Amino acid sequence: MAKYIFITGGVVSSLGKGIIGASLGKLLRSRGFSVYIQKFDPYINVDPGTMSPFQHGEVFVTEDGAETDLDLGHYERFIDTDFSQLSNVTSGSVYQTVIQKERKGDYLGATVQVIPHITNEIKSRIIKAQKYSKSDFHIIEIGGTIGDIESLPFIESIRQFKTEVGYGNAINIHCTLLPYLPTSGELKTKPSQHSVNVLRSYGLQPEILVCRTSKPIPKNEKEKLSLFCAVSKDAVIECRDMKSIYEVPLALEEQNFANVVLKLLQTPEREVDLTEWKNLVNNINNPQKTIKIAIAGKYTKLSDAYISVVEALKHAGYANNAKVEIKWINAEDCSDETKCSEVLKDVSGVVVPGGFGVRGIDGKLAVIKYARENNLPFLGICLGMQCAVTEFARNVAKLSNANSTEFDENTPYPVVDLMLEQKNVEGYGGTMRLGAYECHINKNTKTFKAYNSTKIFERHRHRYEVNSDYLNTLKEAGLVFSGMSPDGMLAEIIELPELDWFVACQFHPEFKSRPNRPHPLFKGLIEAGLKQQQ
Ligand code: GLN
Repeated sequence: MAKYIFITGGVVSSLGKGIIGASLGKLLRSRGFSVYIQKFDPYINVDPGTMSPFQHGEVFVTEDGAETDLDLGHYERFIDTDFSQLSNVTSGSVYQTVIQKERKGDYLGATVQVIPHITNEIKSRIIKAQKYSKSDFHIIEIGGTIGDIESLPFIESIRQFKTEVGYGNAINIHCTLLPYLPTSGELKTKPSQHSVNVLRSYGLQPEILVCRTSKPIPKNEKEKLSLFCAVSKDAVIECRDMKSIYEVPLALEEQNFANVVLKLLQTPEREVDLTEWKNLVNNINNPQKTIKIAIAGKYTKLSDAYISVVEALKHAGYANNAKVEIKWINAEDCSDETKCSEVLKDVSGVVVPGGFGVRGIDGKLAVIKYARENNLPFLGICLGMQCAVTEFARNVAKLSNANSTEFDENTPYPVVDLMLEQKNVEGYGGTMRLGAYECHINKNTKTFKAYNSTKIFERHRHRYEVNSDYLNTLKEAGLVFSGMSPDGMLAEIIELPELDWFVACQFHPEFKSRPNRPHPLFKGLIEAGLKQQQ
């Protein structure tokens, strides 16, 4: 029978519950257990796909095309497993299902209520995911903070679920913050005590406390937490701020975190193998060189908006013993050549990531022109590729005012246009070209060298594409289409072979990068940048 681990948060939001859950997943996987995860988000959006990145950070896309919370990215990167649609559950999606059933008459005249109808639907999502994954351990992270009105149905569902599966089959890990008061030089446990009290008032007693802290927790404070929160002493786990998130599993392993979980879930301990992960962390902490890479985008004020891109760049750095420093560039500030050369003069590569809307487009085009003309290693992602094609069309193929119809419907040269299948789509939620699609790579390209394969699968999230009417014109002007959809209609990857690394793709390679297995296209960028540095 599967064992269930619920993760809640208290005191403040942004505690890093996702990293803690992902680290636990890693520790269990390193013991040979299979792990599945679900993220429950209490907001009313059906998925985060319609939310601004400023609100919610990046939208992570799964292999099967779900637009999900960015924590799923951490889970995939730590646990090294692809998750699915079933992993992302929001209040909006739960209510949508219940209301649809009500309209169909499925409830046979009953008054439809939060308890039991909403809670039953929430519990059925857990069971469905478990049936699908058949994992040994099932981790469920509840977004938000204990005490939020909107998370109550989820908390109540956990309470019911724990009773139903019985003692020893489900536990609750509660993550809190221990604030440090510099004036008295103390870590304070009171907010954590209060937060556990709130949890208890909903009928949930946590079995484990994970405390975020900037300082080591003194023994007496651990004992206090154990006493007041009714959690055994070995189940008060310290989670200090780390230089790299990838150190967290090792720090938790030192405190026997996974074994405490196994004991509570009545599962025999197993030998753990963290050799590869330890080597990774050793690499991260002892870089031999540094490389500065610019990200020129629109949401640069919130680095979470590009979290997978940042992680993918770092992963490519780790593989080359290099520390990657990110230089954030607001594309709007780069609208002319002088500004571009000023902001890009100290970087060894530039990424133009995905995005929506016209703001900052001129800057992105200027950045790409600079990269192309100065052989600055460049990686364009999704909108970044569409901009690269537009820039090439305008300045090399001499199609003046070429554009994407996303930005100019009346452009004389619509080199990027709405995909055929998108033309009659109504509504914005979940309607893009989403998830993994096959792509065929042409040999004799830099792209092929990077992948060492002619057939790949990569994850998409877009409505527009390179207009196939212009493929020949662009080819004749020197643009190489190094990756195409199997039917040869959709341009998936482009490159300029005479430059050290000028590659752009219609998909989002960042979603498939793993800390110990960097994505080939990011690796190509970093390697080209490092080579130029020599
Ligand atoms: N706005 C573009 C499109 O919809 C690019 C999307 C993206 O970068 N994810 O095609």
